[in-house]
Amino acid sequence: MGKSKQELPVQKNDIVEVEFQDLTHDGAGVAKVNGYTLFVPYGLPGEKAKVKVIGTKKGYGFGRLVEMIEESEARIEPLCPIYKQCGGCQLQHLSYEGQLQYKQNSVKEVLARIGGLENVRVHPVLGMNEPWRYRNKAQVPVGEGGGGLVAGFYQQRSHRIIDMKECLIQASENDTVVQTVKEIAAKYGIRAYDEKSHRGTLRHIVAKYGQNTGDIMIVLITKQKDLPNRKNLIHDIKEQIPNVKSIVQNINPKRTNVIFGDETRVLWGSPYIYDTIGDIQFAISARSFYQVNPVQTKVLYDKALEYANLTGTENVIDAYCGIGTISLFLAQKAKSVYGVEIVPEAIEDAKRNAELNHIKNVEFAVGEAETIIPNWYEEGIKADVMVVDPPRKGCDEKLLQTMLDMKPKRVVYVSCNPATLARDLKVLEEGGYKTQEVQPVDMFPHTTHVENVAVLKLNM
Ligand code: SAH
Repeated sequence: MGKSKQELPVQKNDIVEVEFQDLTHDGAGVAKVNGYTLFVPYGLPGEKAKVKVIGTKKGYGFGRLVEMIEESEARIEPLCPIYKQCGGCQLQHLSYEGQLQYKQNSVKEVLARIGGLENVRVHPVLGMNEPWRYRNKAQVPVGEGGGGLVAGFYQQRSHRIIDMKECLIQASENDTVVQTVKEIAAKYGIRAYDEKSHRGTLRHIVAKYGQNTGDIMIVLITKQKDLPNRKNLIHDIKEQIPNVKSIVQNINPKRTNVIFGDETRVLWGSPYIYDTIGDIQFAISARSFYQVNPVQTKVLYDKALEYANLTGTENVIDAYCGIGTISLFLAQKAKSVYGVEIVPEAIEDAKRNAELNHIKNVEFAVGEAETIIPNWYEEGIKADVMVVDPPRKGCDEKLLQTMLDMKPKRVVYVSCNPATLARDLKVLEEGGYKTQEVQPVDMFPHTTHVENVAVLKLNM
């Protein structure tokens, strides 16, 4: 029998006075009322506040800040005027030093709780000197309103799109692209796609910006191939955005909230733009993954390279290699590098990038890391050093098992999700590896996301 609501220490609509003790992984404040946990957005550790209970479950409830009684010294005024409506950032009310401290603590906590790694060394987070305007990619949904097109973000818990003139974590070039393309499209009578009726044309505007080259790519994601007034549209975009190098259309006819469809065609210019990280030049196409914060990407890759500790004699496997960014960094110090990636366009980019940089000791393969690497192992290809950089869901079990069979001396694990990092490190530790240290890098200031690079050694 479940307990009745009457027995909970708080009821919906109660106003209670609380003191916040902690922050969740989503950045909400955590308070206890007679042992009962309340999650309250925007509450900070050490703060005392009056909170209205807005929902209760058996083990925990949710609240809303009503009145601050004692403010944390780490609280600051959010810079962005639409911070709370947008929801894209979660930590703008916390000072940047406070954010870095929070991220380090939360990585430690997750590694201990999920990975059983209480004693592993987690370094202070490497933060940015200038933690604004860092993103090189904007993916903005388009809607209709006020007699024209709007482009911005979904109002929380709704499908209404709120117009956004600028986003303070976005390169200002991308803001300009989105505004300009929206106005040009409206001028030529292009309708926004409507999710509910599944009618209209323009779904998203995607802007990619090479921060070190100035190159701009514009991707128009449309429901159907037919794009009214295409020539005029291209003409005006070229005229108003001088640095545009690539205008691409991607067609997504499905009822889905996945942004990209399967078909991509170049409307004008090159199918890719260029950017550089360190000494290496990269071609980036519409569909391939490229890290969104180039300044911190350099910091992250330098750390990965340091952890790989290459002398020039090693065979290296770079799993989940994207467009070969880490692979090419490693190749400069290794005997050979094998990169694996599931998106065919990314591997085409990776091969082009190797050529572009005259790097010859790399090979790239398209496919699942968990299929290709076991095959390589059977064929006798072994890695002295293995680098993995999986998506949020972490490494596949089969890949982890192959790593344990193959026994590279070192594993460098780059991760955008501390929870799956912890889970996978646990498997590797149980299979004979020891985690040496973990370096968090702040790739996504003002959000709760944190990137990590961990290095493991085989216990001899
Ligand atoms: N190392 C790259 C990319 C990391 S993002 C960089 O730093 O830029 C993770 C990459 O893994 C994406 O490019 C994604 O397409 C790819 N991926 C996802 N699942 C995969 C799988 N099962 N096997 C191989 N690659 C995969």
